[in-house]
Amino acid sequence: MALIVQKFGGSSVANAERVMNVANRIVDTYKQGNSVVVVVSAQGDTTDDLIEKAKEINPNASKREMDMLLSTGEQISISLLAMAIQKLGYPVVSLTGWQIGMKTDSHYGNSRIHKIDGERIKKELDSNHIVIVAGFQGINKYDDITTLGRGGSDTSAVAIAAALHADMCEIYTDVDGVYTADPRIVPNAKKLDSISYDEMLELASLGANVLHNRSVEMAKKYNVNLSVRSSLNRNEGTVVKEVNKVEKMIVRGVARDNDVARISICNIEDKPGMAFKVFSLLAKNKINVDIILQSIGRDGMKDISFTVNEGNLEKTVEILNENKDSLNFEEIKSSTDYSKVSIVGSGMVNNPGVACTMFEALYDADINIHMISTSEIKVSVLINKKNADRAVNVIHDKFNFA
Ligand code: ASP
Ligand code: MG
Repeated sequence: MALIVQKFGGSSVANAERVMNVANRIVDTYKQGNSVVVVVSAQGDTTDDLIEKAKEINPNASKREMDMLLSTGEQISISLLAMAIQKLGYPVVSLTGWQIGMKTDSHYGNSRIHKIDGERIKKELDSNHIVIVAGFQGINKYDDITTLGRGGSDTSAVAIAAALHADMCEIYTDVDGVYTADPRIVPNAKKLDSISYDEMLELASLGANVLHNRSVEMAKKYNVNLSVRSSLNRNEGTVVKEVNKVEKMIVRGVARDNDVARISICNIEDKPGMAFKVFSLLAKNKINVDIILQSIGRDGMKDISFTVNEGNLEKTVEILNENKDSLNFEEIKSSTDYSKVSIVGSGMVNNPGVACTMFEALYDADINIHMISTSEIKVSVLINKKNADRAVNVIHDKFNFA
């Protein structure tokens, strides 16, 4: 007998039929003698629909009220799922974030979990209940409802698994697991049997839409046994675990992120402290900067270019322009016409020439690279958006996953 946390995403509970399907799977696990805690997301596009509803009334609503609204999506799915399990004749209870003592900070819309008081869940498990918990939501020190950021139910599930010392945390979604690339872009992408926490973290942050990146961060920190599998079939899925337990592949996957904007500060003085000035301004305004490139100085001047999420573009340009006098640059150029394509793999560290192979694939396809950034386990390039899907395919082909 084991303690298993299962998380079902919005598409897995999108309608009555799927809710019943999920209920059956949960009951199967329970019938095998396991204690089961289930975390669910809002049904289908509910969260997007709620955001639209809010915008119709007030596009500038406070984040507190947005969280109050968005948290309702998960409350619908936990109660419906509990009803489905009741129909099958098994003991079940649904609980919201505050009922399980999911304590978060007060960063409405993107809260981080502080701690989980697992007492209520334990009590319910002791009475042999299947426990259904609302993902994505918590409560702050003012007793206000908070949410964990889009896709945050994964993080709820991993946090609960960590707090309860669960034997396994299974993330059920509408794909079979983690692939070498998004199968919708690369038809011959291959499913991975296993992947390390670090590789998964990179892939999640670089645009592979499989797991919320904070959930992977947390799984690594608390050593949670994590697997990604499909709610629609019984295939094995992908296990996420320690690096020494996975087969070392030089390149594990290719990811694409279309949510990038590039900003160039042109003709800024070439002297010590300029990069510090620019990026401390952005840090103060909580703007995350990704790839940074600085040109060679000429006539005492240089350019600094960097990327941010598209959503932060306007604000970044505004901040820079507000400080034009003190930064003393000539002009700001910006564009959202870019994508970031990355390769990830923990074996890269010890294998020279990996980046070169990626660049060669792009050269063969006549795709120009605008920026490059590397770390021990990834190489990212910035290219024109219109080439992004083709780039993912040619790189994927080059590394011969299939
Ligand atoms: N329902 C939330 C969202 O759509 C949380 C989640 O799906 O994990 O972002
Ligand atoms: Mg969702």
